[in-house]
Amino acid sequence: MSKKKVTDIEDLFPPPNWKKVLKKVKQMSKSLVTQPMLTVSSSIDKDLKTSDRELWKFQVLGSCMLSSLTKDELTAKATKQLAVGLKKKYGGKGFCPASILKCPNDDLVEMISCVCFKNRKAISLKKMAQIVQDNDNKVPETLPELLKIPGVGKKMALVALRKYGHVMGIPVDSHVCVVAQRIDWVKPTDKNADKARSTLEQWVPKEYWDEIDYLFVLFGKVICKTRNPDCENCKISKYCGYFNDENHWSRKKKKTKKQKEKEKEKEKERRKKKRKKKKKKKKKKQKLKKKQKQKKKQKQKKKRRKRKKNKEIESASEDTVSEKELEKTKTRKRKHK
Ligand code: SF4
Repeated sequence: MSKKKVTDIEDLFPPPNWKKVLKKVKQMSKSLVTQPMLTVSSSIDKDLKTSDRELWKFQVLGSCMLSSLTKDELTAKATKQLAVGLKKKYGGKGFCPASILKCPNDDLVEMISCVCFKNRKAISLKKMAQIVQDNDNKVPETLPELLKIPGVGKKMALVALRKYGHVMGIPVDSHVCVVAQRIDWVKPTDKNADKARSTLEQWVPKEYWDEIDYLFVLFGKVICKTRNPDCENCKISKYCGYFNDENHWSRKKKKTKKQKEKEKEKEKERRKKKRKKKKKKKKKKQKLKKKQKQKKKQKQKKKRRKRKKNKEIESASEDTVSEKELEKTKTRKRKHK
């Protein structure tokens, strides 16, 4: 019988011992919690959740939008600045759709200046506030509707939905992706977060969806860091492909001498070509400049010639006039005689 090819997801997943691994990650993460994990919940008044759910939902989504590619502390800071700043300026509920729409773009950018892509995020916040206001101040609670909002990606929408109480998928960011790759919870072809999410959602039972990203993000930030993971203090090293296999697919492969030399040569050639191009451009520019100068000179010469001619004509006409006058005076004199 021929050997069965390992291509289907059923052949690869679930990985053996995945429950044990998750349990150990949970234990490690518990000991790591020294600061609130999700700034979204920490930066927003929890009482709002019960008193004004729609406003709370709006603030959660707003904070999620600010958090993209930004450290948790900075997201919390920006959210706080927004809430305080908007309340000071416009009163009312502070960080709400109406205040955001009233606030000029420059002021909004200033309030969230500590997050990255502040200009783009300020525009997205305004668009989101407009959509919510048009929707009777209600924040949508379905994935397709949330994805229609500019600046809201899949991971962000899933995080917000989970906060609203709906677990629709596993939010996968770079930390979750790296950890999942290293412990073989995703396929070697899952090189980005989107592909990793899709694989995880295929085999991880739904009851675990809620906690995986929370645990893996914390674990990835403190122990299984992208650069220099702390494998010595890791309790799942026994099950980790990255730790046990020097040639594991999640490792960046070391280049051989030949590859390095080839790359060097290529780089040299590229630089040579660049230099040649630059030289050509320079020569072209110089030629153009020369031509322009010559044209200028020719024009000036023409102008001078014209002026000269005009002067000559003028002087000639003056001479003829004076000759005519002389003749006239002579004839007058003759008549008198
Ligand atoms: S052993 Fe190292 S690489 Fe593997 S999960 Fe632990 S920290 Fe990450």
